Amino acid sequence: MILVFIEHKDCVLNKTSLEAITAAQGIGKDLGLKISAVIPCDKDCALAQEISNYDLEKVIMAKNEKLGIYTPDGYTDAWEQVIKATNPTYVIMAHTYQVRDFAPKLAARFGKEVVGDCIRYRNEDGKLVFTRRIFLGKLDADVIIEGDAPYFVTFQSGAFRGDNAEKGGSANIETMDVEVGEIRMKPEAPFQEAKASIDLTKSAIIVAVGRGIKSQENIEKAQELADALGADLAASRPICDAEWLPIDRQIGSSGQTVAPKVYIALGISGAIQHIVGMKNAGTIIAINKDAEAPIFDIADYGIVGDIFDAMPVLVEEIKKAKS
Ligand SMILES: Cc1cc2nc3c(=O)[nH]c(=O)nc-3n(C[C@H](O)[C@H](O)[C@H](O)COP(=O)(O)OP(=O)(O)OC[C@H]3O[C@@H](n4cnc5c(N)ncnc54)[C@H](O)[C@@H]3O)c2cc1C
Repeated sequence: MILVFIEHKDCVLNKTSLEAITAAQGIGKDLGLKISAVIPCDKDCALAQEISNYDLEKVIMAKNEKLGIYTPDGYTDAWEQVIKATNPTYVIMAHTYQVRDFAPKLAARFGKEVVGDCIRYRNEDGKLVFTRRIFLGKLDADVIIEGDAPYFVTFQSGAFRGDNAEKGGSANIETMDVEVGEIRMKPEAPFQEAKASIDLTKSAIIVAVGRGIKSQENIEKAQELADALGADLAASRPICDAEWLPIDRQIGSSGQTVAPKVYIALGISGAIQHIVGMKNAGTIIAINKDAEAPIFDIADYGIVGDIFDAMPVLVEEIKKAKS
């Protein structure tokens, strides 16, 4: 069987857990394994019912009064008991801050490693090969896990689509009272991402500029394209670090995560920290003069060329098409 982690705060779902369900369902189909979701909580978790609508065998509520607030000690104790009781082949999780915090500790209790931050997997004759980006996205490494189960795997945010998680089941909800030992941590207030005055998560079209824009003065050329399209302007991190655009325009792992219908990347190389913030866009269009730029790996349409040649032509054509 496969166990999949459902992350929540006060019974409010962290949506990346749906991506983990999608991944687990795919692996389950490939290997003929059933899937159970695990929700650590201090009470009868309000989320259990919602999760039971997905195509899963069971929803296991790992319950203990010490699990009301996340701590690595509490979660590791709870998970250890669920794993010992259910004997899973795979434990699948989304690669969130929380999972990064406790998953290695949990795996170590079983003498195992975590294959973390995977971007995909493939099935080679019943053996799963997991792919991880290494060296800041410059190389992809294929990983095959040797040894006995359980195997711990986390998937990068956006590697699977949460809205592809299959519903249609009516999974049994099972409460498992777990024991939790001493909690040595006293959590502080949760980390808050920088407050955004523009909410790019609601944008239908985004035009994003990267270092290829060369100077702050040139940003108005991208703004013209954004205006022609009725799009919002966004940027990669170096642009915001240089204060050419405010920080709330930054897309990526330390900026906003967006999923517009169309994302136009102008002079953006496609570093993994940028990609995690925009790979769920419906259609990705990249313009870059380097044909080898990683952004083209995820682009639906690409122009290998100079943005300063492409931008005015696009503006002109869009205006023509509108008139
Ligand atoms: C902990 C951490 C967090 C990070 N968080 C983020 C984040 O949230 N968001 C983010 O974006 N980055 C983030 N980064 C930085 C990230 O690693 C990259 O450095 C950054 O995304 C690169 O930005 P870029 O693509 O604009 O620049 P570059 O990588 O320098 O790419 C510029 C691209 O422009 C192209 N180009 C140049 N001139 C032209 C032209 N005239 N026409 C067409 N193409 C041209 C080049 O071929 C190149 O591909 C983070 C890094 C770390 C370590």
